[in-house]
Amino acid sequence: MADYQPDVQDALFLLQQVAGAGTTLRALPAFAELDEALTEQLLTEAGKFVAEVVAPLQQVGDRVGAQWKNGKVTMPPGFRDAYQAFWQAGWPALAAAPEDGGQGLPCVLEAMLYDWLSAANHGWTMAPGLLHGAYECIKHHASQALKEEYLSKVATGQWLATMCLTEPHAGSDLGLAATKAVPQADGSYALSGTKIFISGGEHDLTDNIVHLVLARLPDAPPGPKGLSLFLCPKFYPDGSRSAAHCERIEEKMGLHGSPTCVMRFDAAKAWIVGEPGKGLNAMFIMMNSARLHVAMQGMGLLDAAWQKAHAYSLERRQMRAPGGAKAAGQADLIAEHPAVRRILDTQRAWIDGGRILAYRTALELDLAHHHGDAQRRAAANRWCSLITPVLKSAWSEQGFAGASACLQVFGGHGYVSEWGVEQIVRDARVAMIYEGTNEIQAIDLLVRKVLSDGGQALGALLDELEPGLSEAGRSRSEQLRQITQSLVQASRQDAALPYAVADDYLRAVALVLMDWGWAQIAAAPGGQSPRWQQPALALHRHVLPEFGMRLAIMQERCRELQGSAPTVAA
Ligand SMILES: Cc1cc2nc3c(=O)[nH]c(=O)nc-3n(C[C@H](O)[C@H](O)[C@H](O)COP(=O)(O)OP(=O)(O)OC[C@H]3O[C@@H](n4cnc5c(N)ncnc54)[C@H](O)[C@@H]3O)c2cc1C
Repeated sequence: MADYQPDVQDALFLLQQVAGAGTTLRALPAFAELDEALTEQLLTEAGKFVAEVVAPLQQVGDRVGAQWKNGKVTMPPGFRDAYQAFWQAGWPALAAAPEDGGQGLPCVLEAMLYDWLSAANHGWTMAPGLLHGAYECIKHHASQALKEEYLSKVATGQWLATMCLTEPHAGSDLGLAATKAVPQADGSYALSGTKIFISGGEHDLTDNIVHLVLARLPDAPPGPKGLSLFLCPKFYPDGSRSAAHCERIEEKMGLHGSPTCVMRFDAAKAWIVGEPGKGLNAMFIMMNSARLHVAMQGMGLLDAAWQKAHAYSLERRQMRAPGGAKAAGQADLIAEHPAVRRILDTQRAWIDGGRILAYRTALELDLAHHHGDAQRRAAANRWCSLITPVLKSAWSEQGFAGASACLQVFGGHGYVSEWGVEQIVRDARVAMIYEGTNEIQAIDLLVRKVLSDGGQALGALLDELEPGLSEAGRSRSEQLRQITQSLVQASRQDAALPYAVADDYLRAVALVLMDWGWAQIAAAPGGQSPRWQQPALALHRHVLPEFGMRLAIMQERCRELQGSAPTVAA
């Protein structure tokens, strides 16, 4: 079956006609020269690279996978050449600053590129995917000496980078991390400890690897405030090898093209990045864009599964469809069966609705970085802070659930490897876990960002969305306001309650946002064509009704607190 092919025209329609990127970006001096023709040319070139170089390596990445031997990792055939071509063409540096060797283009184009790359080959894309956070960390927090040695190499992707946070007993709770950093007489530090699940901890894609490692100084207090960030390369500037070793790589469900490494640091020489005890702060700078990238993985992988399922539904014939065109005894295409159509249109609603929200969020990131007016930057930051956990969680979940629904379109043929859809289901699963699990995202949204100010920021966001919503959409938005207030009250009586319904709350917000995204599509010139109408119908018939269920779950929990809901007999 054909490899993933980005649909550049669809993407341009969503970016230009629906999200109005041209107007937003041209108002920022940094992007004043980025016109629609240049954007189209760039995305066309990106689409070609993805389809011609990265997508054909999807299956070999899964079947051969990364191989570990004596501390070295060999990547699947073709991976190194594709990566070398990728960085030399300037793709990793798309949004990096020109003074660091980048192209100074907007985050939104970078986000679109990563959507397509993940769709084409999630395993391969894990390698450059970590560069951008590392670049931001080094740019904003490293010393001048470290920047001179590492910044442009990481900005351009000539050297790849890792994020070494997780330890065997410290996952979501990084405050438990125990890796030690002991100060040395020459101003460096000796890092000792074990990090697990480190993506790209060792490989042969680039000649050097830059590890960013969370560790604890000897006098550091326990907990997250005691963590500092350190930079430890695989090779030092004099060519000597550091004591950062890859002990093994994990056998795992999917993502075989990405080595997930156990890294041992044996008093490895490293340098501090940022201030002592401010390691997590140094990483927060890249949180919104990193989580947005994971959301793009969900959308991209769902689109990849959808493309396969859609193509198959136009080849496979089984039984007569109700009202189908064929005479008795002949079979219709499965695409004509309403049950199959429903699957395809529903997933399309999630993909396109997600993309419009993600593009808008990436544009807000650009505004947050470059707008001249502090109030506008604050509004952009508010948007990103509220919407990013929703995008990460809801679309990584849909990437997996929706890819599984697309597998269903193949019947038994989806369950066997030949068609490539089962790989997508396996690969997609991890996005619900890393970069902050989806449970942590939901708590971040409800507890830290919504309840903490009594629902004000959420209220301001809904004020912004409501003029673009239909009457039914405004009614859902109003119900969201009401349940937010009920949860503010309930949390005073039972502090644990919001944690139990955070996932329902996040889904409810995601559905209001999807409705808004689709209303934007419908209002754009061309947004009423059958291409967009079919998934819009599916959204209203099969997706938005979930809002009522989520609301009912939350209302029930609030009523239980007041003693007015029936309790279940033991
Ligand atoms: C393929 C892969 C690649 C990865 N790449 C990297 C990498 O490059 N660098 C890196 O540092 N790490 C990486 N990770 C690690 C990943 O970030 C962690 O797995 C993740 O943070 C969760 O930690 P954990 O696995 O220890 O699960 P735990 O934190 O033990 O969580 C177990 C369960 O408990 C839930 N839970 C935990 N705490 C709470 C809470 N407070 N409230 C509600 N629920 C909670 C979680 O949501 C989860 O369901 C990777 C993991 C995988 C699988």
